[in-house]
Amino acid sequence: MLNIRIEKTTAPKAKPQDESKLGFGKIFTDHMFVMNYETGKGWFDPRVVPYQSLSLDPSAMVFHYGQEMFEGLKAYRTEDGRVLMFRPNKNIERANNTNKRICIPEIPEEDFLQAMQAVVSVDKDWIPTAPGTSLYIRPFIIATDPFLGVRPSDTYLFIVILSPVGAYYASGLDPVKIWIEDEYVRAVKGGIGEAKTGGNYVASLKAQMKAHDEGYSQVLWLDGVERKYIEEVGAMNIFFKINGKVVTPMLNGSILPSVTRASCIELCKSWGYEVEERRISVDELVEAARTGALEECWGSGTAAVISPVGNLRFEDEVMEIGGGNIGPLSQRLYDTVTGIQTGKVEDTFGWTVEVK
Ligand SMILES: *Cc1c(COP(=O)(O)O)cnc(C)c1O
Repeated sequence: MLNIRIEKTTAPKAKPQDESKLGFGKIFTDHMFVMNYETGKGWFDPRVVPYQSLSLDPSAMVFHYGQEMFEGLKAYRTEDGRVLMFRPNKNIERANNTNKRICIPEIPEEDFLQAMQAVVSVDKDWIPTAPGTSLYIRPFIIATDPFLGVRPSDTYLFIVILSPVGAYYASGLDPVKIWIEDEYVRAVKGGIGEAKTGGNYVASLKAQMKAHDEGYSQVLWLDGVERKYIEEVGAMNIFFKINGKVVTPMLNGSILPSVTRASCIELCKSWGYEVEERRISVDELVEAARTGALEECWGSGTAAVISPVGNLRFEDEVMEIGGGNIGPLSQRLYDTVTGIQTGKVEDTFGWTVEVK
């Protein structure tokens, strides 16, 4: 158990009035959780303090070699006023896997959960209530040694910030257009693709800009070795429904294991679908689209939960899926996952954790 010191702000900010204008990650609440680490001492001084700027040495290692990790999950307000987090232990487990990969000290699972709960509890009045809105929780760790040599840092900061976020789609679930990238790659097996770290995102920017210029909202990555097998979308894992079966790339060491992905797989199986986690080549996909076997396609990630894909482009091949409409299975997944998250659908899987 952490002994968390709580220092409340004396200058609370005005909360956003119009929940339809929240957007994503633009507004932050009044408080944040902070905890320090030093080699030999471990994690210490857990505290909830007013949201504020950090003061770091310009030589702090995170600025130079990118030793940082992050997580992302949400808290929801139910109709009867409770606050629920969705599968936080999956995020904590993944966080510690990231930490191991990039040589950041792990945080005990119960301490990590307690830290998130403490700051969400202090700022629970910031949780928006309009349909589709939530409180996004962003835990992250940065290396703070003032040193320009390359080695793991001996000091770190663990911080949790909170952002009230809007409905991802203003007008229902609009299918997105996705660009399959054949020049740049995001990650390779043995690299850091499996870790949730900023480095993977900086690697993705160039292709993301290229896709935007072509009128596509996101990039679907191919494997970094053969440039042949489907990996994942920028910040989502990808699913296909082909000939009645649910198919998603297997976790192969370069794909980020999404919590929403795991939830989709469990739900689809519970509904009697055959779910295949395997390699799927872009050629197989093009062929399935040509013959009409490709029935649905969607992305899975915390931000949008389920993001239906209406158009996939690979080189000169444009694959239209579902005639611009969201498929029935994508819709059912969206309704069920968001229903469980907000307490409207019974949580038979035990996925939600209440914040008191
Ligand atoms: C966070 C993330 C996802 C989605 O994971 P969730 O746990 O479902 O939010 C997918 N891909 C990448 C690269 C990510 O960083």
